[in-house]
Amino acid sequence: MGGQSEFLNYIGGKWLPSKSSEIQDVINPATAEVLGQVRLSTVDEMGSAAKAAAAAFPSWRRTPATERVQHFFRLKNLLEEHLEDLSLTITMECGKTLDEARGEMRRLIENVEVACGIPQLMQGYNSEDIAQGIDEIMIRQPVGVCAVVAPFNFPGMVPFWFLPYAVACGNTYIVKPSEKVPCTLQKIFGLVEQAGFPPGVLNLVNGARDAVDGILDSQAVRAVSFVGSTQVAKYVYSRATAAGKRAQCQGGAKNPLVIMPDADMEMAARITADSAFGCAGQRCLAGSLVITVGEAKSAFTQAIVEAAMTRTVGYGLDDKVQMGPVISQQSRGRIEHFIGQGEKEGARVLADGRGTVIKSYERGSFVRPTVLDNVSPQGEVATTEIFGPVLGLIHVASIDDAINLVNSGRYGNMACIFTGSGAAARKFRFEAEVGNMGINIGIAAPMAFFPFSGWKDSHFGDLHGQSLDAVEFFTQKKVVAERWPKEWTRKF
Ligand code: NAD
Repeated sequence: MGGQSEFLNYIGGKWLPSKSSEIQDVINPATAEVLGQVRLSTVDEMGSAAKAAAAAFPSWRRTPATERVQHFFRLKNLLEEHLEDLSLTITMECGKTLDEARGEMRRLIENVEVACGIPQLMQGYNSEDIAQGIDEIMIRQPVGVCAVVAPFNFPGMVPFWFLPYAVACGNTYIVKPSEKVPCTLQKIFGLVEQAGFPPGVLNLVNGARDAVDGILDSQAVRAVSFVGSTQVAKYVYSRATAAGKRAQCQGGAKNPLVIMPDADMEMAARITADSAFGCAGQRCLAGSLVITVGEAKSAFTQAIVEAAMTRTVGYGLDDKVQMGPVISQQSRGRIEHFIGQGEKEGARVLADGRGTVIKSYERGSFVRPTVLDNVSPQGEVATTEIFGPVLGLIHVASIDDAINLVNSGRYGNMACIFTGSGAAARKFRFEAEVGNMGINIGIAAPMAFFPFSGWKDSHFGDLHGQSLDAVEFFTQKKVVAERWPKEWTRKF
């Protein structure tokens, strides 16, 4: 990305500058370089995107699904061709390492691939002769204009948990990226244009709160997908559903990893470090709390501190870097505050990321991997989503204590267990109250052909993103009973 960019909206097949006077810098968090300025679109500008999407809907829904998916086959090939450039862009605007960005792109593309099966995935079903000569059929029809509001931490992938399914099902669509990371979607929409989607089928509107309110206020928008913090997820869910829209809103997380005494400690520590410190801890599936059971305590503690201290931190584009910066200086300040808070609550700081300075990137917002031992189970560190590379350790006596602690949390995004025992794993699978689970896995991110689940304060709504849940969310069922009596039919 050479020079500074101005970000445009893509509405009704045209690239348009926002006229808003609210402007925000987009900053590379490793170098502090300003990548461009984004104007925060107004409620009215979002309204005009909704209008364009509504105008495009009648003919898009009449386009056979087999033809609709041809656009996604083309888009998939374009995304593959531009994978390196898009990964680079993700690293520059969001801070994760290039390998992590490539992984994000792969999952994005996988969702396009799964949605190419929509002609079959959106089939209905039927019963012949529910009474003599009467048949009943269920058909799925698109809901209309749909929109997604995305977070900063996966600038490319998160909108694609929803977008390909919505559009392949015959809906028209609006994407509102996070204002902190508008670069990746700006580029992806260039590819959308090349893939030849008809004008108005896919629209991009940059902005923040006003743009979101534009979605919530628009009568044309029938369904909203949101991914971000729990506080905003609740706001979007309650306003959207009060206005009669469908809504699925994914929120924050605090993901516990349970280490049983029979686990392979070296492997468990390595996987836990990837979970807690990968993407600088800014993943909704990041492990942020470890609960060791019984004798696991000392061997695991030693191994995780070693893993934290030896992780290479720096600019994600540089070779051998294993962890990049957090998104902003403000976020860094917040994370450092929580480390201090942990200390005040009685935790021991075994690895301390405060005050991190990386040579040649002195202005970057870096926090080295941090391990806090003996965090208070009821304290702020154990109960708040810190969204940085900070891992709290709690030690308990039994698996029942560990599961009780897992289930006492307000979130239910993910929990993992590390053990060699099938019985312990099965008990955990049965009893832990979370939507995504890892058994000897540290980041249980569902493949595109599974729903991205999440329970309790991590998800508001019934249906999740990806796969069949997405098809269900983006279609409405019509059930038809029909009969064709002989005597009403012309004889030929
Ligand atoms: P955020 O809630 O600050 O922002 C998310 C989106 O909401 C952005 O597009 C933003 O412009 C918009 N927004 C922010 N404040 C708003 C307001 N008051 N009214 C209307 N819209 C508003 O979240 P973030 O900091 O970008 O992302 C990090 C959060 O996202 C973390 O909590 C993380 O756990 C969560 N997340 C969850 C999942 C999941 O699957 N559950 C996945 C990724 C991220």
